[in-house]
Amino acid sequence: MEVEKMDENDWKYHGEGNKSIVVSHAQHSQVLRFLKHNVEDHKHRCQTSEQAQQHIQNIVDFGKHVMRPLLGENYVHHGEAVKLPLDFVRLLSLKVEPERPESRTDKVMDTLSGWAMCLPNLTQLPDHLSEHRPPLCIEIKPKCGFLPWSRHVTKDVKLKACRFCMHQHLKISSGKWKRRSQYCPLDLFSGSKQRMFLAIKHLLEEAQNNLKIFKNGELIFGCKDDVDQKQDLNELAQHLWPYFSPTVPLIQGRPHRKAVLHNLTQVVTMALLSSGEPGDTTEHRRFHPPKSRDHCRTNMLLQDCCHKANRGLPKDCVLSKILQVQLLDDLDIEGIYPLYKRVERYLAEYPEERSRLQLDGPYNESFLERVRRCPSDDDGSIEYAVGKIHQYRVAMAAKDCSIMITLAPYEGDDILWPTLEIQPSKPRFRGAVSILDLDPKPYESIPHQYKLDLQIVSNYLRSVQSNV
Ligand code: ATP
Ligand code: MG
Ligand code: MG
Repeated sequence: MEVEKMDENDWKYHGEGNKSIVVSHAQHSQVLRFLKHNVEDHKHRCQTSEQAQQHIQNIVDFGKHVMRPLLGENYVHHGEAVKLPLDFVRLLSLKVEPERPESRTDKVMDTLSGWAMCLPNLTQLPDHLSEHRPPLCIEIKPKCGFLPWSRHVTKDVKLKACRFCMHQHLKISSGKWKRRSQYCPLDLFSGSKQRMFLAIKHLLEEAQNNLKIFKNGELIFGCKDDVDQKQDLNELAQHLWPYFSPTVPLIQGRPHRKAVLHNLTQVVTMALLSSGEPGDTTEHRRFHPPKSRDHCRTNMLLQDCCHKANRGLPKDCVLSKILQVQLLDDLDIEGIYPLYKRVERYLAEYPEERSRLQLDGPYNESFLERVRRCPSDDDGSIEYAVGKIHQYRVAMAAKDCSIMITLAPYEGDDILWPTLEIQPSKPRFRGAVSILDLDPKPYESIPHQYKLDLQIVSNYLRSVQSNV
């Protein structure tokens, strides 16, 4: 990318989350990811260009030196920090503004610093041009895949109902979403194909921000602004049918919707369980979380009808990698919050220690060492408190990431490039699985997380009680 020759006409709006806006290049398989600011902060120019640079660099370093070694080289593309001409950024921001969903316009793109991240476009495959059909990409934001078992947990319900399912109730009562999602992360992470199918079915029924589908890099399903409108599964089936046409019949000229979606679900499940190595058979050693309590009470009725022995996840599959990192949160926020207060008391006395303890980075090898080497028992030290907080923040990043499954129909025999080979029944796909959105969660957000946890639990208890 030649920074001096940047032209906003080469880029288009691709998507956004709570923290960033992403634009994609029309020809090259690249995206730029810009941070967003609150409108007020932007007006008052709260951040200097150096701070913005540091922020972006921290995100890149966290991906490169912390999350990549923990999650696996194949899965994580950390990208790089780039400084772009301010004129280009301003014109680009004007260009994308009309494309942005209304619900996201409480924040604005950072047009003041010129700093952004440059990443490969993970909705594309690097060499897809030779294929006759454009690639499909399924993005899943799986959220937390286990129930806490920490002795610090004070509310029994947290040991029985998962965080995502409880949070749904709050999201409905606060008006964030209109309909509750039946998706349960514990089903997705169960390793049981039957439960994974159910999880994907529920994602398709109510995508919220947990499922998006792209065709040729364009969003065709999920995350539309219009929260009142149910996503059209018939339209999705029309889009997908050509990929599965050998096995899916047409009924009165229309593809059999259920059959198309079943095929898609099968392919996605295979990709999630594959190790990502060529020729993988998926029947490797299995990973079981400690003291596995993997059924969520909120969905008990559904689970009763597909109750199967949990086989755990294949050890190197993307879900297993993500779950192992999420499990670094072994104290729960209720155990972390007192350690946060210990660190705050210590910093009040020794403020100069903040940088040695790496609370705001740098995210380098020594940060990773602190995460890996943290003692398991609390000896009352500041080192223990900081180690557990680092682990918690790393786990939080893994609870908020997205999985990208990029697939292209494949007819050849040879394996050209790090591929996984997926054979549901007939249509064959080659593809790649990656993990994105692995930003470090700020140390300062721990008190907010603590309060949010209390709020989610009390709101959940209230809403189930009122339904009895
Ligand atoms: P969140 O609110 O989930 O924390 P965020 O603001 O941190 O989101 P991202 O999730 O990184 O932002 O990016 C927003 C969206 O842009 C993603 O959900 C994905 O659809 C798309 N996206 C981000 N990075 C890439 C990439 N490298 N290739 C393709 N699409 C991408
Ligand atoms: Mg995201
Ligand atoms: Mg994010």
